[in-house]
Amino acid sequence: MSKVRLFIDHPLGSGQAVPLNADQAHYLSGVMRLPAGTVIEVFNGQDGAWDAEITAASKRGGELTVRAQVAPQRDPPDLWLIFAPIKKARTDFIVEKAAELGAARILPVQTAFTNSERIRQDRLQAHAVEAAEQCGGTFVPEVAGLVSLSKLLDSWDPTRRILWADESRVGPADALSGLERGKWAVLIGPEGGFSEAERKRLSDAAFVQPVSLGPRILRADTAAVAALALFQAHLGDW
Ligand code: SAH
Repeated sequence: MSKVRLFIDHPLGSGQAVPLNADQAHYLSGVMRLPAGTVIEVFNGQDGAWDAEITAASKRGGELTVRAQVAPQRDPPDLWLIFAPIKKARTDFIVEKAAELGAARILPVQTAFTNSERIRQDRLQAHAVEAAEQCGGTFVPEVAGLVSLSKLLDSWDPTRRILWADESRVGPADALSGLERGKWAVLIGPEGGFSEAERKRLSDAAFVQPVSLGPRILRADTAAVAALALFQAHLGDW
């Protein structure tokens, strides 16, 4: 059986004692039924992956003792995902898949046709953590708070280019091979697509590169996965 992996928001180093909070203790003792002495793998998003031994375990708390580093830190490419939240389960899916596919930061935005007014940032962040635990990663993308697309663009760093998944270009997928590597963000619209005003603003911005994701209109969650995969294959770390 492969080792249980746990994200720990704590400095990691050989011999380091790490207290477990109630959730972590419940997961290790209550759910996974791991006795003291079991070695698990931990990571904190910056120091790589480490073996850690459960040195005290109870239902409400416990302690890990960090042993040896087992993998170096590996950060994803400098790729952000900007997306308009949709229904709860599909939004969760987008965050989970973005973390698995190697997005470095996840930015939910409100657009003219966004169906959702609110997000549970803490819940989405927890999904990103779980995805990192699952996929053997050592990095956890930050999930930002919800902002409007226009506000986000007002303060946008123009040296970070935006790969805009533009449904009006539906047709043969655009080749990304001509684009330069560097700081990027992928932008995915909501089920209703982008408004005329948004299309104009995006089209006029020099840092925005519109792309087609192929001959079919994809649902927003599918589009997010497709765009991240396309990016990683051409300009990322695949
Ligand atoms: N209601 C819109 C479709 C929105 S699909 C319409 O019928 O035109 C949701 C989002 O997924 C879009 O805003 C876009 O960002 C992305 N998307 C879906 N299919 C795409 C494609 N073939 N090319 C580029 N982007 C696409």
